[in-house]
Amino acid sequence: MIINSRVSSLEGSSTLKITALAKKLKKEGKDVVNLAAGEPDFDTPQFVKEEAKKAIDEGFTKYTPSSGMLELREAIAKKLREENGIPCNATQIIVTTGAKYALFASIFTLIDTTDEVILPSPFWVSYPEMVKLVGGTIKYLPTQKKNNFKINPKDLERAITKKTKMLILNYPANPTGVTYTETELWEIYEVVKEKNIVVLSDEIYEKLLYDGKTHTSFARFPGADKFTVTVNGFSKSFSMTGWRIGYLAASDEIIAQVSKVIDHTTSCVSSITQRGALAALKHSSWQKEMCKDFAKKRDLLWEGLRSCRPIEALRSEGAFYMFCNIAKTGLTSQEFAGRLLEEHQVCVIPADSFGAKGFVRLSFATSVEEIEKGVKRIRKFLATL
Ligand code: PMP
Ligand code: GLU
Repeated sequence: MIINSRVSSLEGSSTLKITALAKKLKKEGKDVVNLAAGEPDFDTPQFVKEEAKKAIDEGFTKYTPSSGMLELREAIAKKLREENGIPCNATQIIVTTGAKYALFASIFTLIDTTDEVILPSPFWVSYPEMVKLVGGTIKYLPTQKKNNFKINPKDLERAITKKTKMLILNYPANPTGVTYTETELWEIYEVVKEKNIVVLSDEIYEKLLYDGKTHTSFARFPGADKFTVTVNGFSKSFSMTGWRIGYLAASDEIIAQVSKVIDHTTSCVSSITQRGALAALKHSSWQKEMCKDFAKKRDLLWEGLRSCRPIEALRSEGAFYMFCNIAKTGLTSQEFAGRLLEEHQVCVIPADSFGAKGFVRLSFATSVEEIEKGVKRIRKFLATL
């Protein structure tokens, strides 16, 4: 076999595959309702576009330092200090090709083939594959519906072994839409702080929280900035998924090593994108409008699904996903999603690839009309079962 065994055993991304399929069917003129999207349906704000155009016109089109232009790293560090309470400066920031590459570069830098990574389940599809790619071992930490799919600190304590190198946290969470309170995070902090493990905290949905919920960054707890890699980005917060920009914040020691990986793999993020991101940070109030809109759509989908027995939806607290238990339909999540698309043209993501059999993920990052149409079709589909 000519293919490296780590790559050949890798699964493709179900989220990207299904989102691409829904977009393709729509483009072909099919009346498909896309409730699979993992990206905001907003256009990128004008102030970002204008700055990027200006960058092109000014000839700002060359390599920047591979960790990102200093002005942007300074602005990110300021945001993390002021909004998130994370003690950091520009030299502790690396700008990356999407948050996805911040995650991968961190995992690649930190995980050896003898290391274990604890991953709460359900999880976003790419974490296990990234760990597999670098030859590490995933140790799933199952969570329960009755705990709102959140880690129980005692279970976490039991899961940590001498081989544990990393705990991955993601909140607000993809695919469940739940988030952790400050008290719950503190309990996790109490478990991990003496254990000499790294917390990889993916906070990319931090700005999408509903019902007055607030976000606490893990790295703000005493000394946690030393052992936490905080990952965030612009894809979700400024609707910039196609611009490919994210970042990580970590200790000097970790940054020095991740920097080498960036130097030899991607070099810097597009200089034009970086200028756009810098403009975004100067207009952070824009995110509040987007969040208000998502809150309305969350309510709409939630109300609609409540009447769709026997589906049980989890009322999301954040992100733009609604996690639904479909087990009582008697179908597997693959069958459910497959038949819903084929027979009623509604696209959702089967949650097997998120480690949750019997669940599907619905996205409300779409228009009111699409959500209403989607719910009607789901109701019709259920009536045929
Ligand atoms: N983390 C989570 C939990 C996500 O859902 C996504 C969505 N793609 C990412 C990271 C990666 O985002 P980006 O577009 O910045 O690479
Ligand atoms: N994060 C999004 C999702 O879960 C986008 C696709 C991806 O990168 O996985 O659908």
